[in-house]
Amino acid sequence: MKTTTRVAVIGGGVVGCSVLYHLTKLGWSDVVLLERSELTSGSTWHAAGGFHTLNGDTNMAALQGYTIKLYRELEEITGMSCGLHHVGGITLADNQERFDMLKAERAKHRFMGLETEIVTPEEIKKFAPVTNTDGILGGLYDPLDGHLDPSGTTHAYAKAARLGGATIETHCKVIETNQRADGTWDVVTDKGTIHAEHVVNAGGLWAREVGAMAGVYFPLHPMEHQYIVTDEVPMIADIIDAGGEHPHVMDPAGESYLRQEGRGLCIGFYEQPCKPWAVDGTPWDFGHELLQDDFDKIEDSIAFAYKRFPALETAGVKSVIHGPFTFAPDGNPLVGPVPGMRNYWSACAVMAGFSQGGGVGLMLAQWMVEGETERDTFAMDCARFGDWITPGYTRPKVIENYQTRFSVSYPNEELPAARPFRTTPMYDIFEGMGAVWGAQYGLEVANYFAAGDEPRYETPSFRRSNAFDAAAREVAAVRNAVGINELHNFGKYRVTGANARTWLDRIMAGRMPKVGRLSLTPMLSARGRLIGDFTISCLNEEEFQLTASYGSQAYHWRWFLKNLDDGVNIENISDTRSGFQIAGPKARDVLQVCTRQDISDMKFMDVRQLSVGMADCIVQRVSYTGDLGYEIFCDLPSLRALWSVLWREGQPLGMKPFGMRAMMSLRLDKFFGSWLREYSPDYTAAETGLDRFISFKKDTPFIGRAAAEAERDAGPARKLCAFEVSVDDADVVAYEPIWLDGKVVGFCTSGGYSHHAEKSIALGFVPVGNVVEGLKVEIEVLGKMHPAVLISAPLFDADGSRMRG
Ligand SMILES: Cc1cc2nc3c(=O)[nH]c(=O)nc-3n(C[C@H](O)[C@H](O)[C@H](O)COP(=O)(O)OP(=O)(O)OC[C@H]3O[C@@H](n4cnc5c(N)ncnc54)[C@H](O)[C@@H]3O)c2cc1C
Repeated sequence: MKTTTRVAVIGGGVVGCSVLYHLTKLGWSDVVLLERSELTSGSTWHAAGGFHTLNGDTNMAALQGYTIKLYRELEEITGMSCGLHHVGGITLADNQERFDMLKAERAKHRFMGLETEIVTPEEIKKFAPVTNTDGILGGLYDPLDGHLDPSGTTHAYAKAARLGGATIETHCKVIETNQRADGTWDVVTDKGTIHAEHVVNAGGLWAREVGAMAGVYFPLHPMEHQYIVTDEVPMIADIIDAGGEHPHVMDPAGESYLRQEGRGLCIGFYEQPCKPWAVDGTPWDFGHELLQDDFDKIEDSIAFAYKRFPALETAGVKSVIHGPFTFAPDGNPLVGPVPGMRNYWSACAVMAGFSQGGGVGLMLAQWMVEGETERDTFAMDCARFGDWITPGYTRPKVIENYQTRFSVSYPNEELPAARPFRTTPMYDIFEGMGAVWGAQYGLEVANYFAAGDEPRYETPSFRRSNAFDAAAREVAAVRNAVGINELHNFGKYRVTGANARTWLDRIMAGRMPKVGRLSLTPMLSARGRLIGDFTISCLNEEEFQLTASYGSQAYHWRWFLKNLDDGVNIENISDTRSGFQIAGPKARDVLQVCTRQDISDMKFMDVRQLSVGMADCIVQRVSYTGDLGYEIFCDLPSLRALWSVLWREGQPLGMKPFGMRAMMSLRLDKFFGSWLREYSPDYTAAETGLDRFISFKKDTPFIGRAAAEAERDAGPARKLCAFEVSVDDADVVAYEPIWLDGKVVGFCTSGGYSHHAEKSIALGFVPVGNVVEGLKVEIEVLGKMHPAVLISAPLFDADGSRMRG
């Protein structure tokens, strides 16, 4: 066995083998895969081998598309068969909401280059004759759906990797991973030790155990999953004898997926009475056995399936496959550099290894070899969970994810499991005021405040929800008087030290503020992609406060640590510093009565340290509402005292609390972008307009400078624009296609209703050549075309006089 290697990949399931192959594909040939048994000895060997592109996250869907197209490449490289059956697949809709969701997915696929189609019940009957289409409104057909041989495919990845120079050691169990002072790893196995520059955890069912060897908790655990293979089904045998194949049918109402297997059928279920497996750890002696059949838990699912697929009722059962596979709390993989670790990478929690494994391998290999991925991977980045995550949270969330795998997922939906978990000292006060809660990065966040008898629950919907009136009231309070909103869901960092300014100048693209001032700045990757959108305030020459997205804390923290310089201290104070923003025409009056210091000369973008009531605060004159506003930060123990004084003094001036729904409407009035909607690593500063905050004048070689300069000189190909959309009751959410002259020319990044202007607004990208005031386009919302007009004047305070005045 080799004793040194550039990369040691732990785990020879489909994911580990894909990572290994992609590393060689990108040019790293000194790579080793360590497998404790034979390849495929975890979940991989008993997978049903189905694959599909459908995924609520656009980037995940694109990577699934990549995975599926990769199989032919693997067959060509290796001469091996992956056992591919590109039979196509249909997802059924038995109610309007589900049909709306499929139409929205279809719309997204138009600019992703995926050739899906909406089909009628008659077409479904013809194409997938085992389906009883009673009650079916239609479906989404995806020609890329199909199935393969899980073992053959894994071995094809392995062979392709070997051809690229990789080594594979089977019967080689990793028992320790010990990091050296220089950041490299001693990977101790039962066959000896390998010194590796990088370690990849692709331990699948044992990813938690492998992670624990390095002191890392991976938020995942296995769930039991069962599918049934039938004896010959005459209808299927006839299709085969006629030279055809039956397509896949996903029946979300029955929580089942069905496909042809030999001359019979194979059907699997995501049943409600599901069971977690090995929650406290996967036994090392598990691997080649299946779990005991459990028909009780799928009894209802089978009864439903008999109605939808009547041919099943008379088919004999040939075999039952019941095995475990792992899930993260949101069902997406955990991929990337593990925050807080050097040279330790995750390729875990891949619950659909044959739909996602190729994309996971490609993204991880790009990250390792090239330093960044070609697209935004946040939906699968292991940094989307912070160190707040616990096994006690993971367990109910994983169960919820399994149970809702086939549910309609609504843009405004707040899933209930494991909540409330993390709350601030304001929780009970807001609860008493009618708060309707959402969750962000594990934290309870007030979405809006219900009044009187209004339900304390927002109805999940693709259309305007019952939160509409509350959001309108809260917006009106901000625009006409003053609103107050808690600042807990900001990621906050304190940067201190003699080199603080120099360091910030290097990692941020914008100009750093003078003492007592704020600045807005993008943070760029080396390739000039947006990896952060920060507000920075300078409290003194050696102390800065940074605020950004709360949900991106681990993501940003990982970047800060990777790029840290001597003479700089950085603290994540997101959960120890909180406060309130007050915004609206009366905001200054409220603040003035709460402090003995004179704030009349406090200008837009000033920062001051003020005593507000009893609390010592950092006060920034800025507001994401686009209104006259202040962000008032204090330490957490002072939060309620700060609230008391602001609320008491705010009452005579008409102060009302406002939540995230109103905030998202208010920011649309000014076309302000939002992190992971308009601003994400998929886009650049010049495309989004954030280049106005880049300081090309500063002489610092800030990260991403060369790419930003090149784009400044060449100009971006597309631009973020605002549109006024004529809709009925469904506003733009994200990724709806923008049509011009019968062609898709762009897509939306977000949208919603401006309660202030009483207009439906969308933000989205179109080619630079089309960016003309008044451009008339159509935006496809839930499968219907809606006229839209490009607008450039903000809907509120267009000259900024209120915000700056
Ligand atoms: C019943 C069932 C049906 C399924 N159907 C489908 C389907 O139709 N389509 C689909 O895409 N997915 C399906 N899946 C899911 C799919 O099986 C998984 O997504 C996939 O197998 C995960 O692969 P992996 O490589 O991450 O993990 P695993 O397959 O679990 O591989 C991990 C490997 O790591 C090795 N290992 C662990 N620890 C060590 C160590 N310390 N040292 C050395 N080696 C180690 C293990 O021996 C194992 O071989 C199904 C799963 C089940 C249970």
